[in-house]
Amino acid sequence: MARVIPLADARTSLPHGAASQRVTPTGLLADAHGRPLRDLRISVTDRCNFRCVYCMPKDVFGRDYPFLPHADLLTFEEITRLARVFKAHGIEKIRLTGGEPLLRKRLDRLVAMLSAIGGLDLTLTTNGALLARNARDLKAAGLNRVTVSLDALDDGVFRAMNDVDFPVAKVLEGIDAAAAAGLAPVKINMVVKRGVNDHEVLPMARHFKGSGHVLRFIEYMDVGHTNGWRMDDVVPAAEILRTIGDALPLEPIEANYAGEVATRWRYADGSGEIGVIASVTRAFCADCTRARLSTEGRLYTCLFAIQGFDLRALLRDGSGDERISDTLAAIWLQRGDRYSAIRSEHTVALPKIEMSYIGG
Ligand code: SAM
Repeated sequence: MARVIPLADARTSLPHGAASQRVTPTGLLADAHGRPLRDLRISVTDRCNFRCVYCMPKDVFGRDYPFLPHADLLTFEEITRLARVFKAHGIEKIRLTGGEPLLRKRLDRLVAMLSAIGGLDLTLTTNGALLARNARDLKAAGLNRVTVSLDALDDGVFRAMNDVDFPVAKVLEGIDAAAAAGLAPVKINMVVKRGVNDHEVLPMARHFKGSGHVLRFIEYMDVGHTNGWRMDDVVPAAEILRTIGDALPLEPIEANYAGEVATRWRYADGSGEIGVIASVTRAFCADCTRARLSTEGRLYTCLFAIQGFDLRALLRDGSGDERISDTLAAIWLQRGDRYSAIRSEHTVALPKIEMSYIGG
C-alpha cells in the first residue's frame, strides 16, 4: 500500500523570533524571489465523495482512513478572520477547495462571510456532484465563478476514474446549473493521464466548443505519494494542443493577468477558448503568487511543500490579528519554493502532502 505522510510530520513553526517584527500590511509583500501574495486556496474539508484513482485511491482512502475530526477543522469564523488578514497583505482572490468543498455543510454561509469582507474574487473548485442543488445559493451568497473537475465525457471512463460509479450526466447537470445561476464562465478542468483518459481529449474539446465554458487541460502531477506517479503517465501540454489543433484549429491568446497558470488558446472559427496547464513540462513557479490553507489551518506556500505553518494554533491561543498578520508576513518574506522548476527524478521521491489535504 502506498505511504501517506502522517499529518503530524507536517507540523512546523516559524524560526524563533521570525514573527516578532512588525510588518505593516501594505498589500505589497514579496517573497525571496520577489513574488507577491495574491491568491489563497482554502481547503474546507479533507473528505471527498469521489475516490479518483490518481488522487484519493480507495486502497488508501478506504473506510478506515482517519479523516480529520470536525473540531480540527477551521471554523467559518476562523477562516474569515484569516481571510481579512490575508487580504490586508495583498490577497485578491480566494478559491475554496478540498477534498470536495460542497461536502462542508452550509458552504454558502462561508461564502457570504467572505463576500462581506469585500473586494475579493471568490471562486470554488468542485467535482460537480452536488453543484446542481447548490449553485443558486452559492451565487446568491457572493460566489463569482466555479471550476468543475471533469476527466472524461465517456460515462464508463468517468465512472472508472472517480471509482464510485458516479455518472457523467450528473456533473454535466451541475455545470449547466452553475452557468444558469450566473457562475460564469464555468471552467472545466480535465487532468490528462496517459492510457487512462488521453483518448477523451478531443471528445471533451468538441463537446465544450461553443458552449461558453472554458475547458482546461492539466498535466498529471506528482502530488502526494498515493498515486504512484511516473513521468510516462504525463501527456505533455504540447501533445494535447497538437491533438486538438489538428482537428479544430487554434490560435494563442494573451494571458488574462500576470501569473495566470493556464496558457490560453481560441478556436480559429471564434467558437470559444481552451487553456492548458503545463504544470510539469513548463513550470510556472517564477510567477506563483499562491498560498494554500489546509483544512486544519496550516499554511503551505507551495503545492509540493511538506512544511505547513500552524496558523490555527495562533487563532486558538488568543493571539491578536496583529500577531497573525506579522506571522503571515514572516512566512511569505522567507518563501523560496520553486519545486516544479527543479523537479527531477530525485525530487519525485521527496516526501509530499496529499492534494486532498492541502487543497487542489
Ligand atoms: N474535489 C474538488 C474537485 O474535484 O475539483 C476539489 C479538490 S481536487 C483535489 C482539485 C483538483 O485537483 C481536481 O481537478 C483534480 O483532478 C486535481 N488533481 C488531483 N490530483 C492531481 C494530480 N496528481 N495531478 C493533477 N491534478 C490533480
